[in-house]
Amino acid sequence: QQRSPKPATPRIVAVSNQKGGVGKTTTAVNLAAALAQDGLGVLLIDMDPQGNASTALSIPHDEDDLGIYDVIIDGRPLIRVVKECPDITGLWCAPSTMDLAGAEIELVDMPHRERRLRQVIEQLYAALDRSRRPAPDYVVIDCPPSLGLLTLNALVAADEVFIPIQCEYYALEGLTALMRTIGLVQGALNPTLTVGAILLTMVDGRTNLAAQVADEVRAHFPAQVLRNTIPRSVRLSESPSFGQTVMTYDPTGTGALSYRAAAREYAHRQGGTHHKESAQ
Ligand code: ADP
Ligand code: MG
Repeated sequence: QQRSPKPATPRIVAVSNQKGGVGKTTTAVNLAAALAQDGLGVLLIDMDPQGNASTALSIPHDEDDLGIYDVIIDGRPLIRVVKECPDITGLWCAPSTMDLAGAEIELVDMPHRERRLRQVIEQLYAALDRSRRPAPDYVVIDCPPSLGLLTLNALVAADEVFIPIQCEYYALEGLTALMRTIGLVQGALNPTLTVGAILLTMVDGRTNLAAQVADEVRAHFPAQVLRNTIPRSVRLSESPSFGQTVMTYDPTGTGALSYRAAAREYAHRQGGTHHKESAQ
């Protein structure tokens, strides 16, 4: 499979799903790592107060470290909090610190409360352009599970939503709810938002249920579902505790191979597709 091409214009991608534990963070960090390993510039923004993505990329995110909270609440430039990932050249991260949990409430009374992340990303690109420095080809945003102002900021900042889903019984229901949310955001706040991809994760090839759910999701969203899927893999789940993505922790295993294939498939798609319900 061919390496991920450089996109004509930067792609801002929110990895989102209202459900927890479906593989958002695992997908965000490994997608970001795979694109960077193909030679692209990638910035991962950790918008989840849990900071799991920052942990997986070995980016310090204690109380005294600067993080995305300082950017969207205190107005610090994004470029000041971004750190390069030690293992992967070209992969940068804006970490999340614990105080981000409070941002959900602090944002409520702030001006442009849904647009703050979008504004700081635009400012970052403008600053890099002025100083003639290379700008990221991809910005990957790891979203928290709840549909609060942090997720909303990500959906307003993004060009595309990248949706990981777990092949289980209620998957389609959750997906329908998420599509409705995306439709609302398109209507009110970000008309050009598209669904960039749906990725089936934690696929257990031995069960009929997984295959049935996968078929059903493909039938509903034929244009959005990636051909490549991510199998269950112990390596994938243990890599964050070593401060690594699976792309460096177990580079030749099934986890890394499948994320690399999915990332390349995604990168070869130019832009996303508008979901039909979104027109309402
Ligand atoms: P989310 O960010 O949606 O809450 P995570 O990416 O943190 O989900 O995944 C939830 C849990 O499942 C984590 O413990 C993660 O390591 C594990 N996990 C994710 N993807 C896989 C996979 N393909 N195989 C095995 N475990 C996985
Ligand atoms: Mg997560």
